[in-house]
Amino acid sequence: MTALTNLLDLDPAQLVAYCGELGEKPFRAKQLLRWIHQFGAHDFDAMTDLAKSLRDKLATRAMIAAPAVISDHISTDGTRKWLLDVGQGNAVETVFIPEENRGTLCISTQAGCAVNCRFCSTGKQGFSRNLTVGEIIGQLWMAEFELRKSKGIEPGHKGERQITNVVMMGMGEPLLNYEPTVTALKLMLDDNAYGLSRRRVTLSTSGVVPMIDKLSQDCAVAMAVSLHASNDALRDSLVPLNKKYPLRELMAACKRYLEFAPRDFITFEYCMLDDVNDTDAHARELIALVQGHGGGTAVPCKFNLIPFNPFPESGLKRSNNPRIKAFAQILMDAGIVTTIRKTRGDDIDAACGQLAGEVQDRTRVQERMQKMTEYQQKFGKNFGRIIEVSQ
Ligand code: SAH
Ligand code: SF4
Repeated sequence: MTALTNLLDLDPAQLVAYCGELGEKPFRAKQLLRWIHQFGAHDFDAMTDLAKSLRDKLATRAMIAAPAVISDHISTDGTRKWLLDVGQGNAVETVFIPEENRGTLCISTQAGCAVNCRFCSTGKQGFSRNLTVGEIIGQLWMAEFELRKSKGIEPGHKGERQITNVVMMGMGEPLLNYEPTVTALKLMLDDNAYGLSRRRVTLSTSGVVPMIDKLSQDCAVAMAVSLHASNDALRDSLVPLNKKYPLRELMAACKRYLEFAPRDFITFEYCMLDDVNDTDAHARELIALVQGHGGGTAVPCKFNLIPFNPFPESGLKRSNNPRIKAFAQILMDAGIVTTIRKTRGDDIDAACGQLAGEVQDRTRVQERMQKMTEYQQKFGKNFGRIIEVSQ
Protein backbone atom coordinates (compact mmCIF):
# COMPACT_ATOMS: atom_id res chain seq x y z
CA MET A 1 0.00 0.00 0.00
CA THR A 2 1.35 3.43 -0.89
CA ALA A 3 1.65 6.07 1.81
CA LEU A 4 -1.18 8.58 2.07
CA THR A 5 -0.38 12.13 0.89
CA ASN A 6 -0.80 14.62 3.73
CA LEU A 7 -2.62 17.53 2.12
CA LEU A 8 -1.24 19.88 4.79
CA ASP A 9 2.13 19.45 3.06
CA LEU A 10 0.91 21.04 -0.18
CA ASP A 11 0.89 24.70 -1.10
CA PRO A 12 -1.85 26.07 -3.40
CA ALA A 13 0.08 25.33 -6.61
CA GLN A 14 0.97 21.81 -5.47
CA LEU A 15 -2.65 21.16 -4.59
CA VAL A 16 -3.65 22.12 -8.15
CA ALA A 17 -1.04 19.68 -9.47
CA TYR A 18 -2.27 16.99 -7.09
CA CYS A 19 -5.85 17.46 -8.29
CA GLY A 20 -4.54 17.22 -11.85
CA GLU A 21 -3.01 13.83 -11.01
CA LEU A 22 -6.40 12.69 -9.79
CA GLY A 23 -7.96 13.86 -13.06
CA GLU A 24 -9.71 16.79 -11.37
CA LYS A 25 -10.06 20.41 -12.43
CA PRO A 26 -7.94 23.15 -10.78
CA PHE A 27 -10.91 24.75 -8.98
CA ARG A 28 -11.16 21.60 -6.86
CA ALA A 29 -7.86 22.62 -5.32
CA LYS A 30 -9.37 25.90 -4.21
CA GLN A 31 -12.31 24.06 -2.65
CA LEU A 32 -9.97 21.68 -0.87
CA LEU A 33 -7.82 24.53 0.37
CA ARG A 34 -10.86 26.21 1.88
CA TRP A 35 -12.16 23.06 3.49
CA ILE A 36 -8.81 22.36 5.05
CA HIS A 37 -7.60 25.79 6.12
CA GLN A 38 -10.83 27.74 6.62
CA PHE A 39 -13.12 25.01 7.92
CA GLY A 40 -10.50 22.88 9.64
CA ALA A 41 -11.86 19.75 7.97
CA HIS A 42 -9.88 16.56 8.34
CA ASP A 43 -12.56 14.22 7.11
CA PHE A 44 -13.19 14.13 3.34
CA ASP A 45 -16.79 13.08 3.91
CA ALA A 46 -17.49 16.49 5.45
CA MET A 47 -16.57 18.20 2.15
CA THR A 48 -20.12 18.26 0.90
CA ASP A 49 -19.57 20.24 -2.31
CA LEU A 50 -17.10 17.68 -3.67
CA ALA A 51 -18.48 14.78 -5.70
CA LYS A 52 -18.85 11.58 -3.73
CA SER A 53 -16.49 9.86 -6.18
CA LEU A 54 -13.76 12.42 -5.46
CA ARG A 55 -14.27 12.19 -1.70
CA ASP A 56 -13.92 8.41 -1.93
CA LYS A 57 -10.79 8.74 -4.05
CA LEU A 58 -9.24 11.16 -1.57
CA ALA A 59 -10.11 8.94 1.38
CA THR A 60 -7.98 6.13 -0.06
CA ARG A 61 -5.02 8.31 -1.12
CA ALA A 62 -4.80 11.32 1.11
CA MET A 63 -5.11 12.52 4.66
CA ILE A 64 -5.16 15.80 6.58
CA ALA A 65 -3.06 15.35 9.68
CA ALA A 66 -1.25 17.79 11.97
CA PRO A 67 1.29 16.57 14.54
CA ALA A 68 -0.38 14.86 17.51
CA VAL A 69 -0.85 16.91 20.67
CA ILE A 70 1.14 15.53 23.61
CA SER A 71 0.01 18.16 26.08
CA ASP A 72 -2.12 21.28 26.16
CA HIS A 73 -1.74 23.82 28.98
CA ILE A 74 -3.50 27.10 29.58
CA SER A 75 -1.75 29.69 31.73
CA THR A 76 -3.54 31.92 34.20
CA ASP A 77 -2.90 34.85 31.82
CA GLY A 78 -4.64 33.02 28.95
CA THR A 79 -1.45 31.96 27.16
CA ARG A 80 -1.94 28.45 25.79
CA LYS A 81 0.88 26.06 25.01
CA TRP A 82 0.73 22.84 23.04
CA LEU A 83 3.50 20.30 22.95
CA LEU A 84 3.38 18.41 19.65
CA ASP A 85 4.80 15.05 18.74
CA VAL A 86 6.89 15.19 15.57
CA GLY A 87 8.01 11.57 15.77
CA GLN A 88 11.09 9.65 16.89
CA GLY A 89 11.11 11.15 20.34
CA ASN A 90 11.06 14.75 19.14
CA ALA A 91 8.54 17.33 20.23
CA VAL A 92 8.03 20.98 19.39
CA GLU A 93 6.00 23.73 20.93
CA THR A 94 3.32 26.09 19.72
CA VAL A 95 2.21 28.97 21.92
CA PHE A 96 -0.92 31.13 21.62
CA ILE A 97 -0.76 34.58 23.18
CA PRO A 98 -4.10 36.39 23.43
CA GLU A 99 -4.04 40.17 23.65
CA GLU A 100 -6.64 42.91 23.63
CA ASN A 101 -7.16 43.18 19.87
CA ARG A 102 -5.23 40.29 18.50
CA GLY A 103 -4.20 36.68 18.97
CA THR A 104 -0.62 35.75 18.20
CA LEU A 105 0.59 32.23 17.52
CA CYS A 106 4.26 31.48 18.03
CA ILE A 107 5.29 28.50 15.91
CA SER A 108 8.35 26.27 15.58
CA THR A 109 10.20 25.40 12.40
CA GLN A 110 12.75 22.80 13.54
CA ALA A 111 13.05 20.21 16.29
CA GLY A 112 16.08 21.54 18.15
CA CYS A 113 18.40 24.07 16.55
CA ALA A 114 21.97 23.92 15.28
CA VAL A 115 22.82 27.58 15.85
CA ASN A 116 23.34 26.97 19.56
CA CYS A 117 22.98 30.44 20.98
CA ARG A 118 24.41 30.57 24.43
CA PHE A 119 21.22 31.75 26.15
CA CYS A 120 18.78 29.43 24.37
CA SER A 121 17.69 26.07 25.71
CA THR A 122 16.51 24.95 22.26
CA GLY A 123 20.05 25.51 21.04
CA LYS A 124 21.42 23.51 23.96
CA GLN A 125 19.46 20.45 22.78
CA GLY A 126 21.33 20.38 19.48
CA PHE A 127 19.64 19.87 16.14
CA SER A 128 17.22 16.99 15.59
CA ARG A 129 15.51 17.67 12.30
CA ASN A 130 13.71 20.09 10.04
CA LEU A 131 9.94 20.20 10.28
CA THR A 132 7.93 19.46 7.15
CA VAL A 133 5.44 21.94 5.65
CA GLY A 134 2.59 19.95 7.20
CA GLU A 135 4.23 20.10 10.60
CA ILE A 136 4.74 23.86 10.36
CA ILE A 137 1.35 24.88 8.92
CA GLY A 138 -0.22 22.08 10.96
CA GLN A 139 0.57 24.11 14.10
CA LEU A 140 -1.56 27.00 12.81
CA TRP A 141 -4.28 24.64 11.57
CA MET A 142 -4.46 22.76 14.85
CA ALA A 143 -4.32 25.88 17.03
CA GLU A 144 -6.88 27.93 15.08
CA PHE A 145 -9.50 25.20 15.12
CA GLU A 146 -8.79 24.07 18.69
CA LEU A 147 -9.20 27.65 19.86
CA ARG A 148 -12.46 28.01 17.96
CA LYS A 149 -13.69 24.70 19.37
CA SER A 150 -12.88 25.81 22.93
CA LYS A 151 -14.91 28.98 22.40
CA GLY A 152 -17.74 27.28 20.55
CA ILE A 153 -17.02 29.30 17.38
CA GLU A 154 -18.05 27.70 14.11
CA PRO A 155 -15.29 27.05 11.58
CA GLY A 156 -15.55 28.68 8.16
CA HIS A 157 -14.23 31.77 6.46
CA LYS A 158 -16.80 33.93 8.18
CA GLY A 159 -16.01 32.42 11.56
CA GLU A 160 -14.37 34.71 14.04
CA ARG A 161 -10.66 34.28 13.50
CA GLN A 162 -8.72 33.51 16.65
CA ILE A 163 -5.20 33.82 15.28
CA THR A 164 -4.60 37.21 13.70
CA ASN A 165 -0.79 37.21 13.84
CA VAL A 166 1.88 34.57 13.47
CA VAL A 167 5.46 34.82 14.69
CA MET A 168 8.10 32.26 13.80
CA MET A 169 9.80 32.53 17.16
CA GLY A 170 9.39 29.05 18.55
CA MET A 171 11.98 26.32 18.28
CA GLY A 172 14.45 26.37 15.44
CA GLU A 173 16.02 28.73 12.93
CA PRO A 174 13.44 29.18 10.14
CA LEU A 175 15.99 30.31 7.55
CA LEU A 176 17.92 27.05 7.98
CA ASN A 177 14.75 25.16 7.04
CA TYR A 178 14.08 27.43 4.14
CA GLU A 179 11.81 25.74 1.58
CA PRO A 180 9.24 24.27 4.01
CA THR A 181 9.18 27.56 5.92
CA VAL A 182 8.46 29.58 2.77
CA THR A 183 5.78 27.14 1.61
CA ALA A 184 4.11 27.41 5.02
CA LEU A 185 4.34 31.21 4.84
CA LYS A 186 2.65 31.20 1.43
CA LEU A 187 -0.23 29.18 2.87
CA MET A 188 -0.58 31.64 5.74
CA LEU A 189 -0.92 34.50 3.25
CA ASP A 190 -3.18 32.77 0.71
CA ASP A 191 -6.74 34.13 0.57
CA ASN A 192 -8.17 30.65 0.22
CA ALA A 193 -6.29 29.52 3.30
CA TYR A 194 -5.61 31.89 6.25
CA GLY A 195 -5.43 35.17 4.34
CA LEU A 196 -3.08 36.83 6.83
CA SER A 197 -1.42 40.04 5.66
CA ARG A 198 2.37 40.05 5.27
CA ARG A 199 2.57 42.63 8.03
CA ARG A 200 1.00 40.24 10.49
CA VAL A 201 3.40 37.39 9.87
CA THR A 202 6.87 37.82 11.35
CA LEU A 203 9.88 35.63 10.77
CA SER A 204 12.58 35.78 13.43
CA THR A 205 16.12 34.89 12.46
CA SER A 206 19.50 34.76 14.13
CA GLY A 207 20.91 36.27 10.92
CA VAL A 208 21.43 33.84 8.02
CA VAL A 209 22.42 36.62 5.62
CA PRO A 210 22.03 34.94 2.19
CA MET A 211 18.66 33.56 3.18
CA ILE A 212 17.45 36.98 4.30
CA ASP A 213 18.09 38.15 0.74
CA LYS A 214 16.38 35.10 -0.71
CA LEU A 215 13.33 35.59 1.50
CA SER A 216 13.01 39.19 0.32
CA GLN A 217 12.41 37.79 -3.18
CA ASP A 218 10.36 34.69 -2.34
CA CYS A 219 8.02 35.83 0.41
CA ALA A 220 8.82 39.09 2.16
CA VAL A 221 7.01 39.02 5.49
CA ALA A 222 7.81 41.19 8.50
CA MET A 223 11.30 40.53 9.83
CA ALA A 224 12.71 40.26 13.33
CA VAL A 225 16.44 39.81 13.79
CA SER A 226 17.90 38.40 16.99
CA LEU A 227 20.71 40.87 17.61
CA HIS A 228 21.58 40.44 21.31
CA ALA A 229 24.93 42.20 21.07
CA SER A 230 26.37 45.56 20.07
CA ASN A 231 29.71 44.37 18.69
CA ASP A 232 31.10 41.34 16.89
CA ALA A 233 33.22 39.96 19.74
CA LEU A 234 30.21 39.82 22.06
CA ARG A 235 27.85 38.53 19.38
CA ASP A 236 30.34 35.82 18.35
CA SER A 237 30.14 34.55 21.90
CA LEU A 238 26.35 34.64 22.16
CA VAL A 239 25.20 33.76 18.63
CA PRO A 240 27.91 31.57 17.03
CA LEU A 241 26.47 32.20 13.54
CA ASN A 242 27.88 35.72 13.84
CA LYS A 243 31.33 34.33 13.02
CA LYS A 244 30.01 33.44 9.59
CA TYR A 245 27.84 36.53 9.09
CA PRO A 246 29.21 39.41 11.18
CA LEU A 247 27.28 42.53 12.13
CA ARG A 248 28.38 44.68 9.21
CA GLU A 249 27.01 42.13 6.73
CA LEU A 250 23.92 41.54 8.82
CA MET A 251 23.10 45.26 8.97
CA ALA A 252 23.54 45.58 5.21
CA ALA A 253 21.23 42.58 4.65
CA CYS A 254 18.59 44.13 6.93
CA LYS A 255 18.69 47.33 4.94
CA ARG A 256 18.35 45.43 1.65
CA TYR A 257 15.42 43.47 3.05
CA LEU A 258 13.55 46.64 3.91
CA GLU A 259 13.26 47.50 0.22
CA PHE A 260 10.87 44.55 -0.11
CA ALA A 261 9.43 44.24 3.39
CA PRO A 262 5.80 44.99 4.28
CA ARG A 263 6.96 47.24 7.13
CA ASP A 264 9.50 50.04 7.03
CA PHE A 265 11.54 48.82 9.98
CA ILE A 266 13.29 45.71 11.23
CA THR A 267 12.49 44.55 14.75
CA PHE A 268 15.69 43.82 16.62
CA GLU A 269 15.30 41.37 19.47
CA TYR A 270 17.72 41.78 22.31
CA CYS A 271 17.83 39.29 25.16
CA MET A 272 18.77 41.13 28.36
CA LEU A 273 21.60 39.27 30.12
CA ASP A 274 22.84 40.55 33.42
CA ASP A 275 26.31 42.06 33.13
CA VAL A 276 26.86 40.54 29.70
CA ASN A 277 25.13 42.86 27.19
CA ASP A 278 23.08 45.24 29.32
CA THR A 279 25.30 48.20 30.32
CA ASP A 280 24.83 51.85 29.29
CA ALA A 281 27.93 51.48 27.11
CA HIS A 282 26.33 48.56 25.27
CA ALA A 283 23.20 50.63 24.66
CA ARG A 284 25.28 53.48 23.23
CA GLU A 285 27.27 51.08 21.05
CA LEU A 286 24.01 49.62 19.82
CA ILE A 287 22.72 53.03 18.78
CA ALA A 288 25.93 53.67 16.85
CA LEU A 289 25.58 50.26 15.19
CA VAL A 290 22.00 50.67 13.96
CA GLN A 291 22.49 54.30 13.00
CA GLY A 292 25.49 53.38 10.90
CA HIS A 293 28.09 55.49 12.72
CA GLY A 294 31.60 54.42 11.84
CA GLY A 295 30.77 53.58 8.24
CA GLY A 296 28.26 50.74 8.67
CA THR A 297 24.74 50.64 7.24
CA ALA A 298 22.00 52.51 9.10
CA VAL A 299 18.91 50.37 9.60
CA PRO A 300 15.46 51.80 10.42
CA CYS A 301 14.43 49.67 13.37
CA LYS A 302 12.52 49.08 16.56
CA PHE A 303 13.92 47.27 19.56
CA ASN A 304 12.22 44.56 21.52
CA LEU A 305 14.09 43.88 24.76
CA ILE A 306 13.46 40.34 25.99
CA PRO A 307 14.11 39.67 29.67
CA PHE A 308 16.22 36.47 29.64
CA ASN A 309 14.36 33.31 30.64
CA PRO A 310 16.93 31.59 32.77
CA PHE A 311 17.60 27.87 32.66
CA PRO A 312 20.11 26.12 34.91
CA GLU A 313 22.83 25.07 32.44
CA SER A 314 23.14 28.54 30.92
CA GLY A 315 25.14 30.11 33.74
CA LEU A 316 23.48 33.41 32.77
CA LYS A 317 21.16 35.72 34.69
CA ARG A 318 18.28 37.98 33.72
CA SER A 319 19.03 41.69 33.93
CA ASN A 320 17.04 43.33 36.69
CA ASN A 321 14.01 45.43 35.79
CA PRO A 322 15.50 48.88 36.55
CA ARG A 323 18.49 47.97 34.34
CA ILE A 324 16.20 46.90 31.48
CA LYS A 325 14.24 50.14 31.83
CA ALA A 326 17.41 52.27 31.89
CA PHE A 327 18.73 50.46 28.81
CA ALA A 328 15.42 51.03 27.01
CA GLN A 329 15.50 54.71 27.95
CA ILE A 330 18.90 55.24 26.34
CA LEU A 331 17.63 53.73 23.09
CA MET A 332 14.44 55.79 23.25
CA ASP A 333 16.37 58.98 23.93
CA ALA A 334 18.15 58.32 20.65
CA GLY A 335 14.76 58.19 18.92
CA ILE A 336 14.49 54.40 18.64
CA VAL A 337 11.09 52.89 19.45
CA THR A 338 11.75 50.32 22.14
CA THR A 339 9.46 47.83 23.86
CA ILE A 340 10.17 45.50 26.72
CA ARG A 341 8.61 42.09 26.19
CA LYS A 342 6.23 41.07 28.89
CA THR A 343 6.94 37.59 30.09
CA ARG A 344 3.83 35.57 29.42
CA GLY A 345 2.81 32.10 30.47
CA ASP A 346 5.60 31.81 33.02
CA ASP A 347 3.57 29.29 35.01
CA ILE A 348 3.50 26.88 32.04
CA ASP A 349 7.05 27.48 30.80
CA ALA A 350 5.71 29.03 27.61
CA ALA A 351 8.42 31.65 27.40
CA CYS A 352 11.14 31.74 24.76
CA GLY A 353 14.03 29.40 25.13
CA GLN A 354 12.18 27.02 27.41
CA LEU A 355 10.86 24.84 24.73
CA ALA A 356 10.28 21.11 24.80
CA GLY A 357 13.60 20.12 26.33
CA GLU A 358 12.00 17.65 28.66
CA VAL A 359 10.82 15.18 26.02
CA GLN A 360 13.87 15.19 23.79
CA ASP A 361 15.14 11.73 22.96
CA ARG A 362 18.81 11.91 23.75
CA THR A 363 19.69 8.61 22.13
CA ARG A 364 19.82 10.04 18.61
CA VAL A 365 22.97 11.98 19.24
CA GLN A 366 24.87 10.42 16.36
CA GLU A 367 22.37 11.56 13.74
CA ARG A 368 22.39 15.05 15.19
CA MET A 369 26.18 15.20 15.24
CA GLN A 370 26.21 14.26 11.56
CA LYS A 371 23.80 17.09 10.76
CA MET A 372 25.96 19.43 12.81
CA THR A 373 29.04 18.41 10.78
CA GLU A 374 27.12 19.25 7.61
CA TYR A 375 26.29 22.71 8.96
CA GLN A 376 29.88 23.24 10.09
CA GLN A 377 31.10 22.48 6.58
CA LYS A 378 28.61 25.01 5.29
CA PHE A 379 29.01 27.75 7.88
CA GLY A 380 32.49 27.28 9.34
CA LYS A 381 33.98 25.19 12.11
CA ASN A 382 32.62 27.28 14.96
CA PHE A 383 29.07 26.75 13.85
CA GLY A 384 26.99 25.51 16.77
CA ARG A 385 29.90 25.55 19.21
CA ILE A 386 29.65 27.19 22.59
CA ILE A 387 32.17 29.95 22.85
CA GLU A 388 32.71 31.49 26.27
CA VAL A 389 31.44 34.98 26.77
CA SER A 390 34.22 37.50 26.72
CA GLN A 391 33.50 41.17 27.11
N1 SAH B 1 15.91 30.99 15.72
C1 SAH B 1 15.20 32.19 15.59
C2 SAH B 1 13.78 32.12 16.09
C3 SAH B 1 13.53 31.38 17.37
S1 SAH B 1 14.13 32.05 18.86
C4 SAH B 1 15.96 33.33 16.27
O1 SAH B 1 16.91 33.06 16.98
O2 SAH B 1 15.59 34.47 16.05
C5 SAH B 1 13.01 33.39 19.19
C6 SAH B 1 13.61 34.47 20.07
O3 SAH B 1 13.74 34.01 21.43
C7 SAH B 1 14.96 34.91 19.63
O4 SAH B 1 15.10 36.30 19.63
C8 SAH B 1 15.84 34.29 20.68
O5 SAH B 1 17.05 34.94 20.74
C9 SAH B 1 15.00 34.41 21.92
N2 SAH B 1 15.43 33.54 23.02
C10 SAH B 1 15.96 32.31 22.95
N3 SAH B 1 16.23 31.84 24.17
C11 SAH B 1 15.86 32.79 25.05
C12 SAH B 1 15.88 32.87 26.47
N4 SAH B 1 16.33 31.88 27.23
N5 SAH B 1 15.40 34.00 27.02
C13 SAH B 1 14.91 35.00 26.25
N6 SAH B 1 14.87 34.97 24.92
C14 SAH B 1 15.34 33.87 24.32
FE1 SF4 C 1 18.41 28.59 17.44
FE2 SF4 C 1 17.11 30.91 17.73
FE3 SF4 C 1 17.73 29.39 19.88
FE4 SF4 C 1 19.65 30.67 18.56
S1 SF4 C 1 17.95 31.60 19.68
S2 SF4 C 1 19.72 28.53 19.24
S3 SF4 C 1 18.92 30.51 16.46
S4 SF4 C 1 16.32 28.85 18.23
